[in-house]
Amino acid sequence: MSDSTTSIHSSSTTTMDTVSDDVPPESKKKNVCVVGAGMAGLTAARELRREGHAVTVMEQRGDVGGQWLYDPCTDAGDPLGTAAPVRVHSSMYASVRLLSPRECMGVSDFQFLPKHGVPGRDPRRFPGHREVFFYLKDFCDEFRVMEMVRLNTRVVRVAMASDEVVARWKVRSVRVDPETGEEEEEEEEEEVFDAVVVANGHYSQPRLPTITGMREWRRRQLHSHSYRVPDAFRGEAVVLVGSGDSAMDIALDLVSGGGAKSVHISANTPVVVDDKIMTPAMRKMLANHADLHLHPQIHRLHEDGTVIFADGSHLVADSIIYCTGYRYSFPFLDTGGAVAIDEDGCRVGPLFEHTFPPALAPGLSFVGVQKKVFVPWFFEAQGRWIARVLSGRTNLPPVEEMMTAVEEYRRAREVAGVPAKYAHDIGGVNPSVCSNLMMITASSCQEEECDLVCLFFDQETYEFWDKYSELPRREEWKRELTRAILRDIIDDRETFRDLDNDSDSVRQGLQTWLGLSSDDAPHQATAEQEQAHNVQ
Ligand SMILES: Cc1cc2nc3c(=O)[nH]c(=O)nc-3n(C[C@H](O)[C@H](O)[C@H](O)COP(=O)(O)OP(=O)(O)OC[C@H]3O[C@@H](n4cnc5c(N)ncnc54)[C@H](O)[C@@H]3O)c2cc1C
Repeated sequence: MSDSTTSIHSSSTTTMDTVSDDVPPESKKKNVCVVGAGMAGLTAARELRREGHAVTVMEQRGDVGGQWLYDPCTDAGDPLGTAAPVRVHSSMYASVRLLSPRECMGVSDFQFLPKHGVPGRDPRRFPGHREVFFYLKDFCDEFRVMEMVRLNTRVVRVAMASDEVVARWKVRSVRVDPETGEEEEEEEEEEVFDAVVVANGHYSQPRLPTITGMREWRRRQLHSHSYRVPDAFRGEAVVLVGSGDSAMDIALDLVSGGGAKSVHISANTPVVVDDKIMTPAMRKMLANHADLHLHPQIHRLHEDGTVIFADGSHLVADSIIYCTGYRYSFPFLDTGGAVAIDEDGCRVGPLFEHTFPPALAPGLSFVGVQKKVFVPWFFEAQGRWIARVLSGRTNLPPVEEMMTAVEEYRRAREVAGVPAKYAHDIGGVNPSVCSNLMMITASSCQEEECDLVCLFFDQETYEFWDKYSELPRREEWKRELTRAILRDIIDDRETFRDLDNDSDSVRQGLQTWLGLSSDDAPHQATAEQEQAHNVQ
């Protein structure tokens, strides 16, 4: 693994960013529509324009940022999010702080540097969600991305234009009233583009389990998509279904000052519920909070509020929050079946390298389908690849070859025992590391497996980066930092964000990155910063 040093630009450098030096000829430029102005859409749009394409980004909301544009409103009439598509896009809760260090997130030439002393900014290594939103706004300013973005514009249909000799795409969009969020149907518009890049995100449409008695249960049930703050659960017995990052965050939110009477995590992951192999982090969480309890899967729910678990234990709960993840959803996409989502909502396909549907490539592509990647860093490579394929600078393999590659990838993962719900979690298919994939959720990974998991993460992400982006590789100290953080999370979920335990090599890398002296420790939260974050 090489250890190249990326050229670093602070988020305050001025960069003219229109078209890269070495652009393809005019005839290769495409008229491209990007659906969505979250991290994926914004990053892809910049790469597309750098390659010389004419880009229109359609965004349904009143600002860019996607998930990071916090919305205090919820799908109140549908707290489980059973309607598709859900009305509210962002699933961020107020207390979200990054799980990934800021050092590893920024795009290669616009780092996510802390802005010390700037009012409203959160310079911590793991800042709150608002700081990520500000970074994306800075990115838009720096590269004049807003010139390409049409806000309050919802894409309602994308389909191939059958009347065209060369494959082109019809995009129907409708204006959304910024006040009410309602579509203004008289303002529907249809335009034709050479290509469409889908970047509509996949953390909005809840995935729900099937539990006996769920329909009859009369008390409050919601998906974590509709959770914002703990206040509404004060004095309640709350059951959280699932043991991923949202479940852990929300559990801590509810017990640490949130005022819930008791919180019950119901999980089916052995490393979470099995006392013999439980992670130190889980053990510490339970020891630190007497009102936090762990249970196996729910067996059934009763109308009167009783929740019965698989081991026969039971309790009467006031609320159930399903922290059970999200489905892929492309309600506007009409491909005549060429791109489909499986029943569980976990797999989109066929997609070559999770990006191009072979039969419709390169006119249709997807950014951001992959999971467990550092973003927007990874989206930069993906957007760059799409941009270059569209301009003809890079070629895709023939359709049959792409189909074969997709099928082989799917089969290899199946043989290795990778569950379908991890279909787009980037990772190799070596069976010896496969079992770790199931434990990648940081809250449920054994310490000794940590290095293997990190290696595993790196492997496929870097392969993609090397194959398709031609950008310099990430510096070794950032990989070391990632490994150390994963270990810290496994050790103590409540404190890992505010430790000051960087190795010498990480410190050195960090100093170059920051251009700061050694006594500046940007990731340590001062009381003032913590307070500023908490009131946002
Ligand atoms: C609670 C929570 C915590 C998270 N924490 C982390 C973390 O710590 N670290 C991390 O890396 N990631 C985290 N994530 C994941 C994060 O959401 C993604 O990393 C990233 O935001 C995905 O970007 P995206 O652009 O693909 O999707 P999004 O951010 O969802 O953006 C999609 C955009 O498309 C728009 N859109 C959708 N449909 C249409 C349409 N029909 N027409 C027009 N516009 C449309 C949406 O309005 C939105 O602006 C978290 C997610 C959640 C929900």
